[in-house]
Order: sequence, then structure tokens, then C-alpha cells
Amino acid sequence: MSEQTLYIVATPIGNLDDITPRALEVLAKVDVIAAEDTRHSQKLLSHFNIRTPLVPVHDHNERQQAEGIVQRLAEGKSVALISDAGTPLISDPGYHLVREVRQAGFRVSPLPGPCAVVTALCAAGLPTDRFVFEGFLPAKAQARIQTLQFLSKEPRTVVFYESPHRILATLEAMVEVLGSERQLVMAREITKTFETFLQGTLPEVLDLVRNDPNQQKGEIVLMLQGAPAAAGDDLDAAAEQTMRTLMDVLPISQAAATAAKLTGLNRKVLYQWALSQQSIDGSA
Ligand code: SAM
Repeated sequence: MSEQTLYIVATPIGNLDDITPRALEVLAKVDVIAAEDTRHSQKLLSHFNIRTPLVPVHDHNERQQAEGIVQRLAEGKSVALISDAGTPLISDPGYHLVREVRQAGFRVSPLPGPCAVVTALCAAGLPTDRFVFEGFLPAKAQARIQTLQFLSKEPRTVVFYESPHRILATLEAMVEVLGSERQLVMAREITKTFETFLQGTLPEVLDLVRNDPNQQKGEIVLMLQGAPAAAGDDLDAAAEQTMRTLMDVLPISQAAATAAKLTGLNRKVLYQWALSQQSIDGSA
């Protein structure tokens, strides 16, 4: 624990046992805790017998509050930032505060812990070597469709946060824009009693959610399989290296099938790429 430091402290996304010992120590020892919703956070702190005073820092007052927090740090105090759940700044307030504190020359020290994106992704069974986090899709239907169109060729796994009252509309929009082939994993109420992972093609997950009102409740993370590369597209360097190594020892159909398992890329796309390389090399 140091003076003149802003600690960014992750808190549980459901199960209170997920708080780290270091988070508890820092929250108990700092001079003040900046919290998104002080009443909400008071319950968490009371549960752990922490009596540190709270100040509100949310979307509507963050810029003004940043000044006061920089002042406290200048006076030699230490401050912790928490949000309602998970890691502050991840679809939560804190960006302006962290920027101001850094610009003022004070230390910002992160305490890692729960975060719904990473917690959902590590259990989804979709490629995780590279992924894109999109936060919440726009609330308005037209803007939501446009964002999905923009993302439709994204080859990496795409992660979204979603609220229960928009889940059906979002899944319908995904089917409309992205078609029926793509896999989707919907993680709901992670680390809580009704934790559920639904998996299937987009229409399959839409049907499951439409036919079960329980799936339209609670907190939700959507993870969308990346778009297959179009035939003739270049592979990235790692996939190309994998294919070249496998093609040295296997017929191209087997090389494509094996590389598809290793990389998560579409087998047909890898096969097409192999064919295109054979014609370039003149070995077909
Ligand atoms: N800062 C948080 C984090 O680190 O994940 C996210 C805050 S954002 C305002 C809240 C959204 O995160 C929810 O609407 C939901 O999409 C997702 N989320 C948070 N807790 C979750 C949980 N236990 N299960 C599934 N999704 C969750």
C-alpha cells in the first residue's frame, strides 16, 4: 500500500467469494473509496466489515470529482476506485479519472479480479487467441443493425455485453444481419446460482431464448464466432505457417482439416487457400 496512489480495484460480478485478499486489504486501508453507486457498494463493503468512507464517481460527475481526487492525492492520501461489479472502466466509469490522475503525475495501480468479458470467454469454447470486445450494442434498432453490419466481416471472436430486456431484439438483429451459420455462446448470470451457457448457431440460440423466459433475465455476455475468411483471402501469418507445415507432410484436405482444428478457422477457407498456393507454386 502506498500513499498518493489511485488503486483500480476489481470487485465480484456475482459471487462475493471472488473478491481477492489484496482487494480487501486495499479497500480497508485507503483513505477514501470512489464508487459508481455508493449505496450499492456500501452493501459489499459492509459484508466485509470495511468502513472506509465512500464518494460517488459516476458518468455524470466524473470530471468534477476527478479534480477533488487529484487534490486528495496531492495531500498525500490514497484512493480506491470500484464500480458496481467487476473491473472499473470496462463498460463502467473511470476513464476520465484515470487520465486526470496520470496527467497530474500520480500513480495508478490496478488490482486485477473479476471481469465478465474474460470470465465468459474462458468458458465459451470459442477461439480466444484474439478477440474483440464491443461493449453494449446501440439501444436503437437502426444503429444496432449498422454496428452489426460493420462487424459482419470481423474474423475474431466478438464479445458483447447485453441487457435482458434487449436480448431478443439483439439476437433477431444478429440473425437478420449475420445469417444462420455463425456460432453464438450466450453466458448468463456467471458465478451466480443460475449461471447458464447456451451455445448453437444464431437461430438455435434465438429459439432457445425465445422459448424460455428465464433466458431473458439476468446479466448476459454474448460471444459471436468470428467471420470465416472469404475464399482467396490471405491467412494471417500464424495460420499460414501452420498450413505450410502441415502441407509438407499431409495431403491438402487433411492439412486444412487439421489446421481448422488448431486455428479455429474455417476448413473450406483453409482448403481454398491451399489450392491457391498450389497454383501459385505451380505444383498443382
Ligand atoms: N465492469 C464490469 C465487468 O468488469 O465485467 C461490467 C459492467 S457493465 C455496466 C454490466 C454488464 O456486464 C452486464 O449488463 C452484463 O452484460 C455483464 N455482466 C456483469 N456481470 C455479469 C455476470 N455475472 N454474468 C453475465 N454477464 C455479466
